Formats: sequence, C-alpha cells, structure tokens
Amino acid sequence: MFDKLTKSIFINGEWKNVDDQKTETVYNPATLERITEVALGGATETDEAIKAATNAFKEWSTMTGRERGSILYKASQLMLEDAERLAEILTIEQGKPLAEAIGEIKISANYLLWYAEEASRAYGEVIPSSNKSKRLLVIPQPVGVVGAITPWNFPSSMITRKIGPALAAGCTVVLKPASETPLSAIEIMKVMEKAGIPAGVVNLVTGHAKAIGESMLSNKEVRLITFTGSTAVGKYLMRESAEHVKKISLELGGHAPSGVFEDADIDKAATLVLGSKFRNAGQTCICTNRLYVHESIAEKFTAALTEKVKQMKLGSGLEEGVDIGPLINEKASEKVKSHVEDAVNKGARIVYGGDTADCDLDGYFYNPTILANTTDNMLVMNEETFGPVIPIQTFNNEDEVINKANDTDYGLAAYLFTENTNRAVRVSEKLEYGIVGINDVYPAIAEGPFGGIKQSGVGKEGGHHGMDEFLEKKFVSIGIE
Ligand code: ADP
Repeated sequence: MFDKLTKSIFINGEWKNVDDQKTETVYNPATLERITEVALGGATETDEAIKAATNAFKEWSTMTGRERGSILYKASQLMLEDAERLAEILTIEQGKPLAEAIGEIKISANYLLWYAEEASRAYGEVIPSSNKSKRLLVIPQPVGVVGAITPWNFPSSMITRKIGPALAAGCTVVLKPASETPLSAIEIMKVMEKAGIPAGVVNLVTGHAKAIGESMLSNKEVRLITFTGSTAVGKYLMRESAEHVKKISLELGGHAPSGVFEDADIDKAATLVLGSKFRNAGQTCICTNRLYVHESIAEKFTAALTEKVKQMKLGSGLEEGVDIGPLINEKASEKVKSHVEDAVNKGARIVYGGDTADCDLDGYFYNPTILANTTDNMLVMNEETFGPVIPIQTFNNEDEVINKANDTDYGLAAYLFTENTNRAVRVSEKLEYGIVGINDVYPAIAEGPFGGIKQSGVGKEGGHHGMDEFLEKKFVSIGIE
C-alpha cells in the first residue's frame, strides 16, 4: 500500500521531498511496524510554502465565494467516494477502529461540504448611520495566509475543519500535520489537487514541529495561526504570535466532566458515557475525564456501565468487531499507567480493567478501565488522561456537582444526563464550558461552533462562527453630499 518513501511536501502544486533527503518514520501504532518514511521538512520548506501561499492569495482571495465553494464541494465528494481507502490509511497510522475512521472521513468531508455552501454566504452589513451625510458598510475580507497546525487524534477531520473555512473565506494555507499521522494529510492534499485547487492555495509541510512553527511565527505574511493540540504548545504559539500581532485560533486540552443525575435514563446514559469515554481509546479532548454520578443511582449505573465495558473488544483497528485500538505511543501509555497507579495509591478501587491489555500485537494497548471511590486530589480528576480510563465519584446535590465540574482551568466540553428539562437548562447555563452536551456526547458537527473557554482555547471551529475567524471586517465609511 505504501512505498518505502512517501513524498509528503506539497508546495505550489508540486510534490517533493526535502533536498537532503532527511526523513522520519511513520509507525502503525497497533503493531509498531514501519509504514513508510516521510520528509523531515523545516524552515526552508515552510518559508517556501508561505511564499507560494502569499502569491496564490492574490487571485484566490478575489475569486467569488461560489467559485471557491465549487472546488470545496468537489473535494468533499471525492473524499466520500474514496472513504473506505482513506479510512484504512487513517486506521493504519492512528490506530482507531475502522468504523470510527470511516465516521471521521465522513465528518471530514462534511466540513468541506458545509463550508463549500458557506463560501457564498459571507455577508457584510449596512449600518444605519447617525449622520445624514454618511453611509456605513462592513465588508468581510479574508485574513490572508493561514498557518494550520493539527494533532494526531483526528488526522483528517481536524484538517478539513481548519482548511474548509479558511479556503471558503478566501485565505490560503500552509499546513503542518502531526508527525504521527502525516498520511491522512497527504491524502487530503491529493483530494484538493484532484478537485482543481490552484497551485499554492494549500501547501503541506511535514517535519520538525518547532522549526516549522518558528517559521510560521516569524513570517509577517502569516496573518493567522490556527492550532489544535496541547495547552502548553497553544500558550507558546499565543505568546509568540504577539510579535507580529497575528490572529490566533486555538483548540486546546480539556478535562470534561459528565454528570449523571438521579433522573437520568440509566441505560441510555451508560451507553453515552461509554461512547464518550472509549471512542478513539479515550484520546479526544472532549472525552469524559471525570464522571459524577448521583449517589442514589451510583451502584445501578456502575453495574450497567461495567456490563457494557466488559463487551468491548480490544485489538487492531482493522480487525472486524474491534471497539478499542492501541494508544498512539509509549508516552501515552506511560501517562495512562501513571494516572491509574496514582489513583489506586490514593485509594481508588478498580471496578474493571486497570492494566495493560494482554494482546498478541506489539502496540500499546490498555484495557478499558473503571475506577470508583475517586477523590479530587487524584491526577485522573485534574489532568487529561487521554486514555480509556473512567474515574467515578458520587455526589448528592446539583450545586455540589456544578461546583466540582467548574473547578478546573479547562473549559472545553461538559456533559449532563437527565430526563428533566428544567434541570437540563439550569445546569447547562451554569457550566463554565464552551460546549455542553445534554444527553449527547458527540457535539462536534460541521454546522455547530466548537471551541473552549478558559485555558481550553480561543475562537470557534465549525458553523458560520468558524468562518468568521478567517474574515476581517473592514469598515467602509462613505461621505455623501
Ligand atoms: P500532543 O502532545 O498530543 O502531540 P502537541 O501539542 O505536542 O500535542 O501537538 C499538536 C501539534 O502541534 C502537532 O502537529 C505537533 O507536531 C505540533 N507542535 C508541537 N510542538 C510545536 C511547536 N513548538 N511549534 C509548532 N508546532 C508544534
């Protein structure tokens, strides 16, 4: 399926490797086998890509929204037609079960489709003037060249969620994907190429994260950095963006609380919590990190959840019927182990799992794990575990659980499970989070504004709000006789 070396640098419509042939290896996290090598690009390639994007901006930004949208529409169709192959590549480099990967490719295509439609709808404003001899207009215009940096946990949809609105708005892009998952990014570039994107409008540079980032940050032509990843790197990019006063859009870490109230439908809530926690082996920034269950239903709920978890099958994502794939790498596995160890040392009880999986593959597999009797001083209750571990704590009143849920520097997603509409509205309004799911744990959708508050991020992705990030609002004041 793959050559020994895959061309992974796409600049001004041309594929290449770096001149000195430096490469980095892409591994299959399920088997730890080498898949291929990709180019280890750096400052030279990034500078070249920014130059191409700057040149291409002149024409791309003046095309009509409909013209840009028609290319995005074609790209979304091409992705859907090729969904199975693209999903297989995604699973091979990232590890998630194939069914989840197919779901991601469909979502990924849907971002392109939605922004293809939105491209024609970048409306301005006419403001009624307080002065009779003035007419006031607001004209949306593309920000300019965008530097996009994406993570490995959603190697496809995190890219189209950024480049879809950027391109629709009339911006041009230099993309740096995660080193772990460059292959899905390469496939997206090929799709864009086939869809007829003009040379230089989207560019891809794989390689040295720091060097590529520095080149994006130090170049005045890059007017906006859009990033999804860790809070630490997000803070660094925010600080460094100050030098040229670049715009930024950051989707950072989270520590999602889920509250299961006494009036929840227990079986439905258990199924949703299962989906929220264990998809992508717990490696999403909106996965439930802390589960608060009302004390009156805790026993029943934990039993229902445990029964479901017992049915889950671990293994290679390519294998039929597998629900949980490997963790991305050794560092991720060590983190999960240390979080569980810390919880147990501080008095948590392992209800299920709590160990690495006995699997005949070499990848880093961890059994789906449920912990009870957790306390607020445990790592699992404060830091992102990014693995298949669900810590349960009981509560006895609404205010208590809202206070606990809000007691964090993160503010990405929170969930509540209740069949009581009054409670649903009351609690969701008090949660200090950018996203609240009420009996819903899949809030990432093309038309909805996804984004965190507090230290979970700045800006929105998805919806018309997501395209706004890439548009300046120029104020035109016209004096008339
Ligand atoms: P994780 O620890 O989950 O990999 P990171 O925030 O380190 O999260 O990575 C998210 C993305 O940011 C990846 O594409 C990674 O290569 C990139 N990245 C990491 N460090 C830097 C940096 N200093 N400058 C620019 N990009 C970076």
